[in-house]
Amino acid sequence: MTFMQPKVRLGSKTMTQEQLQEHKRHNSKRYNLSVRDKYDKDYTKFYQSKEWRKTRSIVLTKHMHMCKQCIADGLAVNRSKRLIVHHVIELKDDWEKRLDVNNLEVLCGVCHNKLHKRKY
Ligand SMILES: [Zn+2]
Ligand SMILES: [Zn+2]
Repeated sequence: MTFMQPKVRLGSKTMTQEQLQEHKRHNSKRYNLSVRDKYDKDYTKFYQSKEWRKTRSIVLTKHMHMCKQCIADGLAVNRSKRLIVHHVIELKDDWEKRLDVNNLEVLCGVCHNKLHKRKY
């Protein structure tokens, strides 16, 4: 006995269920890509926003412009180092915490790099 797969019409094309599934997978991949693209743009916009600049400077002042990790490691604080206000819970994990000072810490570029390398 031969099982005939029912065909599905999609626009001008007629597809089998299999082809339709493949088509959907393909489309959702493209969809995810555009979503990620949108997030990247949101992040860039966020880092350029007035709110972020304000929050960033509050956090820097709160921590006296010192890298948390360098202090923890007992290293001399080099104030000339580039400082980064780092999200403990990252933007992609919790967008709501993006301006939460309790979720922000000051790190120098070196420690920040190390931290992210360790994580990924
Ligand atoms: Zn540091
Ligand atoms: Zn970071």
